Amino acid sequence: MPLDVAPRSTRPERLRVRVQGAVQGVGFRPFVYGLAERYQLSGFVLNDQNGVLAEIEGALSEMFLSALQRERPVLARIDEITVTSLPVLGQQGFAIRDSLSAGPGASVGVPDAATCESCLKDLFDPSSRFYLYPFVTCTDCGPRFTITRHTPYDRANTSMAAFKRCERCAADYGDPSSRRFHAETIACAACGPRLSHPVDEIAAALLEGRIVALKGIGGFHLLCDATTEDAVRILRQRKHRPARPFAIMVGSGFWPFARPTEAERTLLQSSARPIVLVRKGSGLAGSVAPGLSRVGVMLPSAPVHHLLCRANSCALVVTSANIAGEPLIIDNDAAMNQLGAIADLIVTHDRSILRRADDSVMTMIDRAPAFIRRGRGFTPEPIDLGEDGPSVIGMGAHLKTTICVTRGREAYVSQHLGDLNTAETIRFYNYTLHRMLADLGVEPQLVACDLHPDYRTTRIAESLGLPLLRVQHHAAHLAAVAAEHHLGQELIGVALDGYGYGSDGAAWGGELMVGDGGNWHRVGHLRPLAVPGVERAAREPWRMGVAALIAIGRGGETAERFSCHPLTAPLAKMSSNAAVPATTSMGRLFDAAAALLGVCEDQSYEGQAAMELEALVDCPEALPGGFSIEQDMLDFRPLLGDLLQPGLGAQKGASLFHGTLIAGLTDWIGRYAEQRGKTDIVLGGGCFMNRILADGLTQALRQRGLNPWLPRLVPANDGGISLGQAALARAHLMARRQERT
Ligand SMILES: [Zn+2]
Ligand SMILES: [Zn+2]
Repeated sequence: MPLDVAPRSTRPERLRVRVQGAVQGVGFRPFVYGLAERYQLSGFVLNDQNGVLAEIEGALSEMFLSALQRERPVLARIDEITVTSLPVLGQQGFAIRDSLSAGPGASVGVPDAATCESCLKDLFDPSSRFYLYPFVTCTDCGPRFTITRHTPYDRANTSMAAFKRCERCAADYGDPSSRRFHAETIACAACGPRLSHPVDEIAAALLEGRIVALKGIGGFHLLCDATTEDAVRILRQRKHRPARPFAIMVGSGFWPFARPTEAERTLLQSSARPIVLVRKGSGLAGSVAPGLSRVGVMLPSAPVHHLLCRANSCALVVTSANIAGEPLIIDNDAAMNQLGAIADLIVTHDRSILRRADDSVMTMIDRAPAFIRRGRGFTPEPIDLGEDGPSVIGMGAHLKTTICVTRGREAYVSQHLGDLNTAETIRFYNYTLHRMLADLGVEPQLVACDLHPDYRTTRIAESLGLPLLRVQHHAAHLAAVAAEHHLGQELIGVALDGYGYGSDGAAWGGELMVGDGGNWHRVGHLRPLAVPGVERAAREPWRMGVAALIAIGRGGETAERFSCHPLTAPLAKMSSNAAVPATTSMGRLFDAAAALLGVCEDQSYEGQAAMELEALVDCPEALPGGFSIEQDMLDFRPLLGDLLQPGLGAQKGASLFHGTLIAGLTDWIGRYAEQRGKTDIVLGGGCFMNRILADGLTQALRQRGLNPWLPRLVPANDGGISLGQAALARAHLMARRQERT
C-alpha cells in the first residue's frame, strides 16, 4: 500500500460544528461528548442561542461527522449541521461547557416525552436505585416544556431547581458513561419530587370505584375505573358532563378494551403519547363514550401511570381536571380548592407544572395521523414554513384557540388554549401570547386576527398597537393547510366547518375558494339553510331539522316530527321568513340530517350530532340524484328529502348522507378544478375530523385525478386557524415588500 498519500482523516484538523434543530434538553451535549471520546477528539460542546456548538480537534473528525448524522439522541431533531475549518490548537481533552445565555434566535426547547424503555426497566427493577420511583427520567425522556420557566434548558431554569441533587444523582450527572450524564431532570427517591400518596393507596381507591385527581405532566387529570358503570356515571354527574366522550388509559395489552390498527398502535407508542381514537373493544362501561364507535386511548406517559396501570390491570378513564370551560388545573392549591367536589382523592406532587399542556388528541385520517387537539408531547415543536419571512402573530379564532408566532422560516403554534369564554381562559391566552413573544425574542410586524368583530381575540389584537390584518375564517383554515405543505401557487380549497364569519357578515361553513398563498376568495358555497335561533341552533340540532323540512317544502311535517319541542310551531313560522339568518355551514347540515334521522335532536357538546351520525356509518353509499349544482352552489335538498323515506333507518340514512356528501363534493370540486385547469385541492375545517367524510372525499378526488391535501401538523378545526392567519400575514408583508423593490 503506497504511503505517500495519507488519507485525509489521519491529519489532525479542528472544526467548528454548529447543529440546529431540537437539540437542547435532549441529551445532545452528552451525545457529542460520547462521540468525541469514541473518536479521540479534543475540544468542547455547549448550548447557545442557535442550538449546539462544538469545536472538535483530532484525526478522526470525519468519522465524528458521519456518526453525528447517522446517530442521534432519540428526542433530537437535526435541521442543519454547518461545519467550518479552524486552525489547529493542539488542545487536550474534551469538555461540556455551560450554556451561553439565550438571546434572539434562542431555542425554545423541546416537548415533554414519555418514560423511555430504559427508565421503565429501572422503574420495575428491584436492584435499581430508581425502583418504583414515580419521577424517574433520563436524557431521553421526562418532562421538558411543562417544567421550563425560560430557556436555555438548564435545571436552574426549570421547576427541578427546587431539588438539590443528592450525591449519587450528582455522580450520575457527571458521569459520561451514565444514561443520565447531564440529564437536567435527574432525581431519585432520596433527593427528588414526591407523590402525596403511595401508589397502592391510589390504586386501591380506583379499584373501589372512586374518583381520583392526579397531577400529571401537563396538568391534573381525573381518573376512575373505566370498566365500572357506576364510577363513570358518578364522574359524569360531578363534572357536569353528560355525554362528551372520555378517553381511557390502558397498560400493556389493549385487548379487550380497544382494537387499534398497526398504525394506531405506532402512534400510541410514540414518545408524545397522544390520545388516539381507536375502534372500541369490549368491557368498557357504556358511559365512557356513549353513542360512538371509537374511544380515545392513551398509553402511560409518566412513571406514575405505569405504576398505576400495573397495580390495576384494567382501563382507567383519564380526563382533564378542570371546571367546565376553565383551563386545565396545574397548581396544587387550585386542585385542592376546586376539585374537592369532584374527586374523592386528590394526589399531588411537589414538582411544579410551569406551563399547562392538555393531552394531544389524534386520529388516523386518510391513512396518516391527524390532530384533533395539539398540546402535550408536541408543543413547542415548530412547523417549517419552507422559507424565511418576517415575524407575525396569528391570534386564532374563539373556540379551541391557539396562538401562532413566526420566526424566520418557523411557525410556533401554542398548545391548545381552549374556548375564550371565561376570565381564566383569557388570562391563560394573554399569558401564553406574552410568553411566546419573550421566548422567541421577536418583534412581530403584523398581527392577523379573525374577521369577526366581537371575538375576544380580535379585541386583544386591536389592543396590541401593531399593524392589523383581518383574515376571513375559512381563508385561514385553507391557508394553514397550504402553509404546512408549502403550497404556494394558485390553489383550490374547500372549507367545511361549523361556523365562521363570512366576508359578507353571514355565517359561512361550506365554501369553495381560490387562493394563491396571500389571498383566498370564495367562488362557491353550499346552498344556505335558515338558522332559526342562530346560536341555539348550533346546540339544538332539531332546529336545523325544522329549517331543513321547510327548505324542502315539507314544513307541514315539523309539528309531527319534532313534537317534543314546544317551540316547533313558532320556529317553523320563523324559518319560513326570508329575513331569518341563513348559513352555508356543513356542520349545520350534519345537524339537520341527524335531527331528521332521529339520531340526535339536542346536543350536550359541540359536534355530538355529527359524531353520532358518523359512528353509525359502515360503508358510505351515494344516493343517485341526491344533490344538484347550479352556478357553483352545491344543493343537498334532494338528499334531505330522501332521509325522510319511511322505514329507512338511522344506519342506512347515515350511510346515504355521508356517501352523497362525498359524491356531491367530489363533483362540485372536480368540475371547478377542471374548469380552472388545477389539480391541487386544499381541504380544511372541523368537518375533516370526520373520518368517513375525509377518507371518502380524498379517495374520490384522487380517482378523479386530483391531488387532495389535508392538515397534518395542526388540527383541521379552529385549533389550526392561528397558523393560517400567520401564513397569510407573512404572505401579505412579503408581497408588499416585493412591490416596493
Ligand atoms: Zn429515560
Ligand atoms: Zn438523587
